[in-house]
Amino acid sequence: MGCVSLEFQTGNLSAALGDFTRATPMAPSPIAYFWLGRTFEGRQDLRSALPAYGAAVRMAPEFAMARDRTNFLRGKFQNGNSAAAFDCSGEITIMALPQAAATPVAPDERLVDPECCQACGGPLRVRFAAVRDAQTRAVFSILECARCGLGHTAPRPKDLAKYYRGYHGGRHGMTASYCARRRLRILRQVAAGAPGHLLDIGCGDGTFLLAAHAAGWSVVGTEMNTGPARQAGLEVYPNISDMHSRAPFDAITLWHTFEHLTGLRATLEDIRRLLSANGVLIIAVPNAGGLQAGIFGSQWFHLDVPRHLYHFTRSALVNLLQSEGFLPSREWHQEFEYDLLGWSQSALNLLAPGRPNLFFDLLRGFQPPIGKLASAAAWLSGALLMALTILLVPVGTLIRRGGTLIISARPHGRSVE
Ligand SMILES: [Zn+2]
Repeated sequence: MGCVSLEFQTGNLSAALGDFTRATPMAPSPIAYFWLGRTFEGRQDLRSALPAYGAAVRMAPEFAMARDRTNFLRGKFQNGNSAAAFDCSGEITIMALPQAAATPVAPDERLVDPECCQACGGPLRVRFAAVRDAQTRAVFSILECARCGLGHTAPRPKDLAKYYRGYHGGRHGMTASYCARRRLRILRQVAAGAPGHLLDIGCGDGTFLLAAHAAGWSVVGTEMNTGPARQAGLEVYPNISDMHSRAPFDAITLWHTFEHLTGLRATLEDIRRLLSANGVLIIAVPNAGGLQAGIFGSQWFHLDVPRHLYHFTRSALVNLLQSEGFLPSREWHQEFEYDLLGWSQSALNLLAPGRPNLFFDLLRGFQPPIGKLASAAAWLSGALLMALTILLVPVGTLIRRGGTLIISARPHGRSVE
């Protein structure tokens, strides 16, 4: 590809960064990966040094986990058609591709980096440098659009399947039927006329679709893992593209699904085509602009990286809907059990960081490998935190900054409720 390869010998990170910026005629890289050994002494220095170069800090989790007791640092910069890789043991390789190269640098095989906002194309800046996945202990960053505020999980693993192990089925445990009834009530409030044809994108085990079917809707769903909903007797497909032969739909719902999808704009384009002339779209997401998100920051339970690829504030979601030809109509600022768990489990994770989301795992029926006493203590502390935080749920709702945000919308130029 006509790469130019330069090598520098140094054990000093700052010198390496300086070498890189001197060796390439481009601006300092906006994107950087750092792979650290867990015991690397200079981690703090690294974090404070990087903003000067306009770089986002990423710690590739696989390396952090695999090299538990070693001191090493490997890094990679990428900036359009320029890239550099280095290793703090002293070997630093800088590769500068010709600036006029027609083909961009091949993306890393394992990771995909958003270079600009996937909703509005605006520039991204670091919101949280390090957010840990409670399930795999992997660490990601969250980048935020400077224009619309949409959060992006970065880097995005190309193969997300391993992060979904044990994720589907029984998500709500004992609150499942209560949750389905609430969602059905919201659907009734915005759907025009009698129950019609409903598509639930990301239908999980199908609890909501079964409730809608019982209420008179003809229902179909999509889900990455179709097994549980099909076992419940539902018609479920893996992709939205499978739905075009079943259109038009009178209502399309995404209950805590939209933040998991890779192509936001493409999904909304598909939905526009799938909706009937009088159809309605309902999207529920965790509210990244909510009260609990603001208080817990990078520790907020509902960040749920990397399964949540996007983090919506109200204005980010409204702007995206409008730019894709939808007219937002109504809003709700609470899904009770999501909001309550957002408060209580985030607080528990702060107080007892050793086993994050333990209470959540117990609630949804998972039995972690712990003794009866530890299990009883987790139940007790979880119940206590729920009791202490329950009044915060209506506070978030009242000031329209709940843990959850639900917005209904219709395509422009069609009748509204
Ligand atoms: Zn944006």
